[in-house]
Amino acid sequence: MPTIKKPLLVRSIEQIDAHTFGIEWTDGCRCRWRISHLRRNCPCANCVDEWTGRTLLDKNKVDDNLMALGIESVGRYALTVKFADGHNTGIFTFRYLRELCQNPGCTHPKRPPEELR
Ligand SMILES: [Zn+2]
Ligand SMILES: [Zn+2]
Repeated sequence: MPTIKKPLLVRSIEQIDAHTFGIEWTDGCRCRWRISHLRRNCPCANCVDEWTGRTLLDKNKVDDNLMALGIESVGRYALTVKFADGHNTGIFTFRYLRELCQNPGCTHPKRPPEELR
């Protein structure tokens, strides 16, 4: 019998500290991200040129201690983060979040740091 791959879903979202949040997924992985890391890798059209893929955001201007005012789900596949700097147009798909994961203990595939935008 082939195993049916279940879609990856969020089991719980937790605030780890003022600058970090984590997600426990339905496959048991517990990922975590610094808010500033997500802000620097925001995939929205204001931060990344849709046609060329070039980064428009000046990452050096992102505060390492940036906080999030809120995190909301978008359908069953993504999250949007309300950043404290007023930015809230980025949609982070679950797949993209896993690529950006900063938990060294996670064993799922991650994007190598040099490929991060
Ligand atoms: Zn992870
Ligand atoms: Zn953005």
